This record gives sequence, C-alpha cells and structure tokens, in this order.
Amino acid sequence: MLLKNAFIYIDGSFKSSDLYIINETEWIIGEDLSSIKCDQIIDLSKKYIVPGLVDVHVHLREPGFEYKETILTGSESAKAGGFTSICAMPNVTPSPDDIDNIRLIQDIVDKDACINVYQYSCITEGRLGQNLVDVSKLKDFVIGFSDDGNPVSSDLIMKKMIEQSAMHDVLIAAHCEDFSYEDPRMSEYMNIKRDIELLKNTDTSCRYHVCHVSSKKSIELIRQAKKDGISVTCETAPHYLVFTKEDVISENFKMNPPLGDKEDKEALIQAVCDGTIDIIATDHAPHTYEDKLAGAMGVIGMETSFSSMYTYLVKTGIIKLEKLIELMSVNPSCIFRIPKYSDFTVLDLDAENTVKSDGFLSLGRNTPFEGMTLNGRVIKTICKGKIVWEYTQ
Ligand SMILES: [Zn+2]
Repeated sequence: MLLKNAFIYIDGSFKSSDLYIINETEWIIGEDLSSIKCDQIIDLSKKYIVPGLVDVHVHLREPGFEYKETILTGSESAKAGGFTSICAMPNVTPSPDDIDNIRLIQDIVDKDACINVYQYSCITEGRLGQNLVDVSKLKDFVIGFSDDGNPVSSDLIMKKMIEQSAMHDVLIAAHCEDFSYEDPRMSEYMNIKRDIELLKNTDTSCRYHVCHVSSKKSIELIRQAKKDGISVTCETAPHYLVFTKEDVISENFKMNPPLGDKEDKEALIQAVCDGTIDIIATDHAPHTYEDKLAGAMGVIGMETSFSSMYTYLVKTGIIKLEKLIELMSVNPSCIFRIPKYSDFTVLDLDAENTVKSDGFLSLGRNTPFEGMTLNGRVIKTICKGKIVWEYTQ
C-alpha cells in the first residue's frame, strides 16, 4: 500500500512525504516514492499521517460484563478513534490474576480484536488488596500490573509491588485513592504521596505510572517527584482537560476521580504543556443507561479522544499537533513498551464533527461530549499494515 502526498509525522515534526507499507512490521517513508510499483495507491493530499494512537487505559468489560462492552466492540470503538493499540484494565470477571484467566482473555483477544489489545494483570488477587499476584510468572503475558478501580491500600503490599517492578522490570499503573479522605482531591493526593515515599525509600529503579491524575495538588506532587529524579510517569484523561464540575449536567459527567475546579483543569493543562503529564489516556468506561442512572462511575472516550484534544488543546493554540501526538502515541508507546508494527492513523484536520453517540461503535453511550462540535477527524486506521477502519459519510 502506497500513501501519497500526506504530511507525515517523522521524529517529532511533519514533512510532506509518501509512505509505503511493505508488511505488518516494515515500511518506508520518502519524499517521493512514485517509482515503487504498487497495486494500492491512495492520495492523501492535505491529510496527516501519525504513528497509530495508543490508549493505555480502557475498560473492555469482557469477560463478565459483556452487556456493557466486549473485546470486539471495544476494539471497534478504538479503531474508529484512531487507536491501533489499547491496554485493557483488569476489572473483569474472572480477574486476570493467574495464568489461566489471562489466557482466557487472550483467547478472546486473538479471536475478536481488530487492533492490538494488551491486557493488564491485577496487582493483587481478585483486586482485593490482600495477596500479591505472582509477578514473575505473569509478566511475559501482560503489558503491566494494576488494580484499577481499586487502590492498593496496604503500604506493605504496594512496597512489595514496587520491589517486584524493579526486580522484573514491569510497569505499575496505579489507581490512587486513599479511602480515609472524603475529599477526592485529598484522597488522590495522599495516595500518590504514599507511593512517592515508597519509591524514594526503595533503593531500586522501578516503572511506576499514575492513572487518571485529576487535580492541581497531585500534579504539583508529581512535578516535584520528577524533579527529584523519582521514576514516575502519569496520565490524565480528555474530560479533565475540557470540563470542570460546573459543567456537570447529567450522569455522563460522573467518573472517579470526579471533575475538579477551574484551578485543577488549568493546572492539568499547564502540566500537559510542561511535560509533567506524559500521556493522555481515555479511561474509557462503558456503562448502560440503567447502570449510569444507578450510579455507575465513568465515561466512554475512545471515539472522541483525538478530536476533543485537537479542538481544545491544538486549535486553541495551547499545544502543537506534534505535542498531542507525543501524548497520544509516542510517549505511551515508549513508557508501556508497546510492540512496533506498521500502525498508522490518518487525520483530516479540516473536518468538523458533531458528536452523536448513536453512531458509536462502542456499546456505551455515556459520553460527556454528546452534541458538541469538534474539529479534526480520524479518517483511516491502519493496524499491522492493513486498513482496519475508514471514515465514510
Ligand atoms: Zn482508575
């Protein structure tokens, strides 16, 4: 496949070039590749090609909650959002905390997923916070370890997990929440603070990543920890960069951690600009309408992630498109060590789009972006050298 005349993201900047995809893992980029004989030639004048987008934080709900989402529908939602790789959180049933359960999920992924789906192992058995899983046994089958949805409340268990992370070179994705504090910002802050203390006092290098950072206080803490040379990375989600608690008009604005004040949002945007935030990940959390009414927390995000971030961060002049690609592809690939394939996302930045959840490929409809007009659209998703999704009117 030969993609011609696009602006292609190469080493941090865009150049007008051609892209020839040889196979699953190999490609060539050149100023003019017209001399290559090829059956499939696609003209992409005025379009942008970026490395496939990566979402390190999604909930696919299968096995156990297939009425909310499945690996099939979740991966379809991902491809429509331009994602070629996603990392699925372990709050499913049975819990991916032993080899059999991880294999069970892997079999569904191999059968149903239309893009690269990687899974997390739990940190503790059943995500109950009591017994650490066998990290050395599971590490080769998963992208990282997380009890997402639940924090690891025990200091001792988190200390052990941090030691295991260093010993086995595995990534911890920490859902930070300290239940002894009612204020969600204090709760997030205190749990991150505990982990940073543990990281300081554990005399090894580990891979520690904070999930869905939502507040100013937490950001200040992480910024300082990075300055102090502590091995910490973090993500925030699009909704924290666009909305505040003033915007909450329905259940579809309720998630954990909740939306903060204007101050929090501004601090997060600042942290995106100065590199304190490494990754934008959606925390895609599909629920049925009934479950949302009954108080289920979380919003979906994969099909609006790129265009919402393009609209609110790039079109507004806060960051450049290159920086957004770092946050949504380059950094997550690097930090999570996502395997390299011929994965690309093609963007039409001139397109405008009114969000209608009825048309989503996700089973979830719980988006806070409903009815909003967003700029920039994913027009093709190429995974392992094949077009897996194309926008059609
Ligand atoms: Zn979480």
